[in-house]
Amino acid sequence: MKLYSTNNPEQLVDFKTAVFNSMPLDKGLYMPAEIPRLSQAFLDNIGQYSLPEIAFEVASALIGDAMPAEDLKAIIDDAISFEAPLKPLDKHTQVLELFHGPSLAFKDFGARFMSRVMSYFLREGEQLLDVLVATSGDTGGAVALGFLGVPNTRVTILFPKGKVSEIQELQLCTNGQNIQVLEIAGTFDDCQQLVKEAFADAELNARHRLTSANSINIARLIPQTFYYFNAYSQLRRQGIEKMVVAVPSGNFGNIAAGLLAQRMGLPVEQFIAATNANDTVPRFLETGVYETRPSVQTYSNAMDVGAPSNWVRIMELFKGDAEALKQVLKGYRFTDDETIDAIRRLHELHGYIACPHTAVAWLATKAYKAENSDSDAVCVFLSTAHPCKFPDALPEDIASKVVVPEEVKVMKDKPRQSTAMPVSFPQFKAYLMAR
Ligand SMILES: *Cc1c(COP(=O)(O)O)cnc(C)c1O
Repeated sequence: MKLYSTNNPEQLVDFKTAVFNSMPLDKGLYMPAEIPRLSQAFLDNIGQYSLPEIAFEVASALIGDAMPAEDLKAIIDDAISFEAPLKPLDKHTQVLELFHGPSLAFKDFGARFMSRVMSYFLREGEQLLDVLVATSGDTGGAVALGFLGVPNTRVTILFPKGKVSEIQELQLCTNGQNIQVLEIAGTFDDCQQLVKEAFADAELNARHRLTSANSINIARLIPQTFYYFNAYSQLRRQGIEKMVVAVPSGNFGNIAAGLLAQRMGLPVEQFIAATNANDTVPRFLETGVYETRPSVQTYSNAMDVGAPSNWVRIMELFKGDAEALKQVLKGYRFTDDETIDAIRRLHELHGYIACPHTAVAWLATKAYKAENSDSDAVCVFLSTAHPCKFPDALPEDIASKVVVPEEVKVMKDKPRQSTAMPVSFPQFKAYLMAR
């Protein structure tokens, strides 16, 4: 696999280089130089394949030349070790649950695959890999649990004090081993700024082999295509062929992976980008003007993004042709009040408890159906996190009904470890230099 930078299509790098660089020096994003189409035979018979088998088929087509098949298979079997079930709510609507991994959010797919790929490419005796990551909640947990115990890696996570949910904090702070956690007395933006400064610091880079684990890494994007194919596989087993997919979106990595899967041959009739008040993309789809804005805080806070970092990739897939893109992608935005109401209605109508991000995606399927009542496609909406991760955004009577998974209960008894730190780059640097 060769990849180019969206800012410089001439310069190609291999998969390993793209994984360790995360972002090209020219600040573009890596894109595959060629997008392979999966064989029709595979797509026709996809209902007979399991999730790891599908993942292997898709990954082989994309990165099969980067490592021997048995090594790729071992990485996939280790990383993609949990289910992504599709659950029917009614005749036209099904929910794809992506929260059955260790951090209870879909980011486990990307983080677990990326961590194992990085570890694989680190040759024995090579310098320890230092992963720095700022998190507003879900990313940190997925990265921590993804890298936990992975040889030759050390992860430093910065999170804003008091601004993540209790379960998110447990997922960060109860790991130990190769995971270190800094509780920053500031905002998520402050955390991100500290990490950015560290990457730009010559002395730190001379001392440690720093890498980022953020959502623009190509090794996080690729495994997110797997579950779109697997959703289709599950539909085919039900005798259904037509699907529309609604994705709760923030940085637009998840939906970018869906669009990549479509380009590889997955038959999706329509993608629906569902956002909260941070509606840069729905506004663009309406007006043709792409205007980023500072993010505003909402209940679906993992989608509080005013300048989606993966948007460039989506435009690149369509070679900048906004009209072609609009044929494939619809956008809807919803307020916090509508989100809470949706959580209530999902519970009343279907006995289903959704996290606020998932509820936004469900609302988008409703809006789409209202405008396309003649479509006979099934709407699949992605459930990106377990509702127990966002108890404060659920009405109290519903929050009390959430069944908390066993692994979370276990975490509550573990000792918590984190280092408190003010928003100070000199202190952060001293901390990294000292070890
Ligand atoms: C990260 C996240 C999102 C947004 O995904 P993007 O790939 O950034 O669009 C949605 N829901 C949850 C629960 C998340 O953690």
